[in-house]
Amino acid sequence: MKIVLVGLNYTSHALELGLRVPDEPIIFLKPATAVVRSGDFIEIPPGIGRVDYEGEIALLIGKRCKMVPVERAWDVVRGIVALNDVTARDLQRKDGQWTRAKSFDTFCPISESYIPTDAFLAVKKEATVTTYLNGEKVQEGSSKDMIFPMEFLVHFVSSVMTLEEGDVISTGTPPGIGPLNRGDKVKVEVRVGDDCVAVENLVL
Ligand code: ZN
Repeated sequence: MKIVLVGLNYTSHALELGLRVPDEPIIFLKPATAVVRSGDFIEIPPGIGRVDYEGEIALLIGKRCKMVPVERAWDVVRGIVALNDVTARDLQRKDGQWTRAKSFDTFCPISESYIPTDAFLAVKKEATVTTYLNGEKVQEGSSKDMIFPMEFLVHFVSSVMTLEEGDVISTGTPPGIGPLNRGDKVKVEVRVGDDCVAVENLVL
C-alpha cells in the first residue's frame, strides 16, 4: 500500500502558506507505516516543533491501473475516505522537502470505512471535508474548490506510477490548518450527500 498526497490543491491554502499556486500538482508520499485508524493515537515525538492537522478528502483505489484517462478515473476508485495529513510544519520548512515532516509513525489517520464511488457519482460529484479540533470546526472545504479535480489527480498520479488496489490518493487540504497539541482530539469528516466517513484521534 502506498499513500500519494497532493500539496496545495486549494488556492486559499497556498496563500495561507505564502506559496505560489502550482501549474501542475505537487505530489509526495507517506509510508504505509504512518497509517492509523479511528481511536488510535497520533504520537508526536519530542523536539520536532510545530505539528499540524490537515483534513483531506482521499480516494481509495480499487484496482491495479496505469495511465488512466481522466474520463475513466472513477472506474478505478473504490470509494472516498477521510484522511488527516499530519505534518511536522517546522521540519517541512527546515528540510526544504517533505519526507521527514510527513512520515512519522501515526501521522496518517485514515477512516476505516469509505463512501462508495457510486454514491459520489449519484450526488453530482461533490464531497466536502470538515476538520474538528476538540469539537470546534477549524477547516471546511469542498471538492468543487480544488485547483486540480479528483479525476485529473487519478490520471496524473497513474501516469507517474502504477496504482494498486488499496492505494490511497489524498487530494490536498483546504485553508484553516493549525497546530496539534498533546491531549487534543482531532476529527476529519468527509461527507457525500447523506453519507459520512470520519477518522478521530487523540494526540499523545
Ligand atoms: Zn496535505
